Amino acid sequence: MPLDIMDADVLHVSVSQLKTWLRCPRQYELKYVRGHEPEAVPHALAFGSAFHAALAAHYGERQAGRALSLDALVSAFARAWDEQGQRGVPIEAGEGVPDAVDLAQRMLAAFLDHDAAAPAEVVAVEKPVSAVLHDPDTGVVLEERLTGFIDLVVREDGRLVVVENKTAARRYAEDQLRFDVQPTAYQLALRQAGAGDEVGLRYQIVTKAKAPAVQVEDVMRDDQDQEDFLRMAVGVLRAIDAGVSYPLRRWQCRSCPYRRRCVK
Ligand code: SF4
Repeated sequence: MPLDIMDADVLHVSVSQLKTWLRCPRQYELKYVRGHEPEAVPHALAFGSAFHAALAAHYGERQAGRALSLDALVSAFARAWDEQGQRGVPIEAGEGVPDAVDLAQRMLAAFLDHDAAAPAEVVAVEKPVSAVLHDPDTGVVLEERLTGFIDLVVREDGRLVVVENKTAARRYAEDQLRFDVQPTAYQLALRQAGAGDEVGLRYQIVTKAKAPAVQVEDVMRDDQDQEDFLRMAVGVLRAIDAGVSYPLRRWQCRSCPYRRRCVK
């Protein structure tokens, strides 16, 4: 599968940037246009990044034919967690948030049990991908390319499956699985790389419950999803180019990393 398609010297946009603008255009402006440092990092975001690093270490070793013990995985998490804490931006934990390393240990134990029960062949870890964006109504190609990293590619029964690893307080709901644009973006890149729709799209979610669980969900995206995604991306990028920015005040403002700067 020819997935090596990250070009230099072109404008890039990520799904995360598009989602940030959709969440709040003012937040996008403060983060990406003005380049302000966040005032704090939400605990869930920092935890998710560190957990992601531990899973990447696990799958990297599996790809090399080795295995990491639970202790080694927890150490990988702890290192990544410490690095987050040393960046000079405080990690903002709400009341009652459990110790990060204790929680990660329980989650990683559940994850290892799950992985040992169904060990798929690891094909790639943190695979860079990109895609051309075009307006589906006019055919005009945008100068920005969509770029990102696929968390994991596995081979299962002779078929490639791209996997998005997540941590979440609870299991993903049906609508979350159906409408999240991340798999749609992956599929766009895969189609353009000639991989076609035979490549599967999957979420693997480790929950933060007292007894953590691993939720595995295969999802589908069709031509309509691709068109909708492209229209959304084109619309957002046009708005950004035009300098559109406004605050979108709602409950998410409480945990916004730019909230003090926003109200100045
Ligand atoms: S505080 Fe609210 S309105 Fe302001 S940037 Fe953050 S999310 Fe947007």
